[in-house]
Amino acid sequence: MSKPSELLSQIIKSGRKSLLETEAKIVCMDYGIPVTKFKLAKDEEEAVKLAESIGFPVVLKIVSPDIIHKSDVGGVKVDVKNAKEVRGAYSDILKNVHKNATKAQIVGMLIQEMAPSGTEVIVGSIKDPQFGPALMFGLGGIFVEVLKDVTFRVAPISQEEASEMIREVKAYPLLKGYRNTPPADTKAIAEILVKTSKMVMEHQEIKELDLNPIMVYEKGAKTVDARIILE
Ligand code: ADP
Ligand code: MG
Repeated sequence: MSKPSELLSQIIKSGRKSLLETEAKIVCMDYGIPVTKFKLAKDEEEAVKLAESIGFPVVLKIVSPDIIHKSDVGGVKVDVKNAKEVRGAYSDILKNVHKNATKAQIVGMLIQEMAPSGTEVIVGSIKDPQFGPALMFGLGGIFVEVLKDVTFRVAPISQEEASEMIREVKAYPLLKGYRNTPPADTKAIAEILVKTSKMVMEHQEIKELDLNPIMVYEKGAKTVDARIILE
């Protein structure tokens, strides 16, 4: 059995209602959910240094308690290949954010490893007033947003139930592999679902959780973005 996340317990106690991506990813790590390597930079010089220590290519993202959808305000730059590009991306993001989210408080810039592209899936959780925490699974992009091709289960779920959730989406054949595309590691996804189930059971204050997207590979999976909202 895992134990509650110390960071999440602290934030709940403080009364704050939303976690920064950095915090949400630390909570994920507390539950053994794989996430991209990341570091928080306070200025441009530090951003370059941290990018070099993580290794190129990297991704830069704005960190602000007032910005929930980072790419909507021009707050994300992917595939940043060298120190010069880090400086460019850093100032572009700040410019975009100042323009599109004028009043946002800025905590810093998240520098993270660029996950190789894979099949994008989404694991989510919402709290149903009647049934309590429930888990959601779907494939990324149009599958969830346009086609609403998702499955739900009330938490807690077992590894077997998690596997069922994955098999039940209409897009499942894409995970099984087709033509030249190898099968995705559905066991790794099921493990993330079970670990998320533990997290939301142990922290009933979680109102919404979104791991969107998770990159899934032939072997393993990695959470690229994480969002947690509290009641
Ligand atoms: P938001 O959902 O707040 O707009 P994300 O962190 O999800 O921001 O980033 C937007 C998109 O950029 C993601 O859906 C993903 O396609 C890509 N992306 C973000 N971080 C990474 C990363 N570390 N590696 C690879 N791709 C990434
Ligand atoms: Mg996202």
